[in-house]
Parts: sequence; structure tokens; C-alpha cells
Amino acid sequence: MFKEARELIDNSKKIYIVAHVNPDGDAIGSTFAVYFALKKLGKDVHVVMPSFSEVFEFLPGVESRVDNIEEDYDLLIALDSSDYTRLAISEEEYNRAKKVIMLDHHQISQPYGDFRYINDQKSSASEIAFLFIKSLEVEIDENIATLLYTGIMTDTGSFNYSNATPDTFRVVAELLENGAKAVDVCKRLNDTMKEAKLKLLAKAIDNMEVFYNGKMRFTYISYEEIEGLGIHDEDAEGITNYLRAVEGTEVAVYVRGKSDGTYKVSMRSNGGVDVSKIAISFGGGGHPRAAGYTMTDIQKDKEKLIKAVGEML
Ligand code: AMP
Ligand code: MN
Ligand code: MN
Repeated sequence: MFKEARELIDNSKKIYIVAHVNPDGDAIGSTFAVYFALKKLGKDVHVVMPSFSEVFEFLPGVESRVDNIEEDYDLLIALDSSDYTRLAISEEEYNRAKKVIMLDHHQISQPYGDFRYINDQKSSASEIAFLFIKSLEVEIDENIATLLYTGIMTDTGSFNYSNATPDTFRVVAELLENGAKAVDVCKRLNDTMKEAKLKLLAKAIDNMEVFYNGKMRFTYISYEEIEGLGIHDEDAEGITNYLRAVEGTEVAVYVRGKSDGTYKVSMRSNGGVDVSKIAISFGGGGHPRAAGYTMTDIQKDKEKLIKAVGEML
């Protein structure tokens, strides 16, 4: 399955690993797991990644991340990104790579790179990274296990979504056998929140608007509000699921203002509507039940979105 990828790695010394912008648990878990595996193979390897929510700072290896790539290099390994324009590097940095490996689990993608493994039947890039690391014959140690566990846990809604398959659970069992710190990961990611985050949630609920007899719930929080609570851009995530959980909801949307003046749209579906179709129509992407895109004009783009959701309902 990964034979040609193995050859690319064998022929490479200097390797960079990257995932998508706005790194989530799967982006962070999969990249740093591969990072530790390649270190064991003696490679000169780095993860290039923008800043991310401080809740992930306890994860092993993340302090070694770099902000950019300032040299030519042999190999780029891209994880959890369906499209090379969503990678957290510039086109110039991408072009500095002699070869590119793409490992992804999104349903709709624009394949890139010299070697591709794309499988939307896998829960996460971390589940694919597990298979990839095994194929390299590297031992899954406690650090790698904890990182992969984190990616799978976060992308499957703590093993509750339909993407958590029997295979996923078999992988997770092996990660636990290899020392994944599951209790610690759950405590930090699912059971701990900053007070400011709770206040952000209160604001999101306060700002909530309901459309189509409760089938669509929408909330918007401006950048000024987020800044006023002392919350970093990356920590203003994870609101959408609360809206989706409300009885009768088919589509939940959370829009937040960003420091660059654009708006990040986060959509969740309960299964009746494929929100990735809506996101793609507005230049974004994602999965049937979780998708997103960027708005530039909050008023006009909001109206368009409400209309698009109405048509899908
Ligand atoms: P989020 O709501 O930020 O957790 O994003 C949910 C999913 O939507 C992600 O896993 C991505 O696959 C996808 N997604 C979010 N934003 C974008 C975007 N701007 N472009 C493409 N895909 C996106
Ligand atoms: Mn992701
Ligand atoms: Mn993912």
C-alpha cells in the first residue's frame, strides 16, 4: 500500500511535514506522530505548522514545530488536507520540495503530490498515519500512540461518529496497548475549558438565530467580541456542536470574525443535509457532517448561506 512512499522516504534526507491551516487535533496528531516515526529512521525532519489552540500544547513534540520552510528539501509529507491550497505553507514553500506525499481521508479532494493515499473510509488522517508508520516498520511508542489517539478521538467526536469503524477501534486498541495516554487526552480536550471559553459559548447562545422552524441554527461572534474575552483566534473553536445538539436541528452554523477581517464558517449537520456540498459551493470543503469555508462579507454571505441551507432542507 505504501511501498512507493517508503521508497520516497528512503531516498530523502531532509523532510518537512505539513497539514491544513487552522490545525485541529487530527492535523496535529498525525503530523507529529509521523515526525517521531521519521526521527526514529534518522531523518532530518521538521513539522511546519501555524500556531494552534493552547489546549494541544501538552502533546509530545509540538514545541519543535517551525513557522516556515526557508530551504530546499527532499520530501514534503502532507496530511489531512484535501487540497494543496489549504496546506499551511505557501506555494513557494510547496515548490521547494523535490517530492510530495499526500495522505488524506476527505471524501472530495483535489489530489496533489507524487504519492497519494486517499481513503475516505478511514476516520482520520491519524488512522492513515498509523498504517503508514506500521508500514515503515517503526515501533509505535507512547508518544506516537498518544498523538494518533488524539487525532482519532477528535475527528470521531470521541469515537461517537459513523466514521469510527470496527477497524478504527482495532487501531485504537493497539494504540492503548502501546501506551496512549487516553485518560489524560480526554481530561485535557473534553473535560477542561477556560472560563473565557464558557463566556464565549454564552455569547454564541445569546447571538443565536433560528431559521426554518428550528432546522437551522446560526450564530455569529465578531472578532471584537472574541478579542474582548481575551481569547486567541485558535481557541475560539468548538462552538458549533452545541448548536447542533439542540433538538430538531438539521444544520448548525457558527461564524467567527478573524483578525484578518475575514469570517470563518463552521457547519455541522445531523446527517440529513450534506454540508460539504454547501461549503464547496462557497469555495470551501469538508465532510458531509462537518464542513467550512471563508466569508468576506458577513451580511451578504450570511443571506446567501441561509438561502443555500433552505434549498437543501
Ligand atoms: P471546522 O468547522 O473548522 O472544524 O471544519 C470542519 C471541516 O470542514 C474540516 O475538517 C475541513 O475538512 C473542512 N473545512 C473547514 N474550513 C474549510 C475551508 N476554508 N476550506 C475547505 N475545507 C474546510
Ligand atoms: Mn483536520
Ligand atoms: Mn481529519
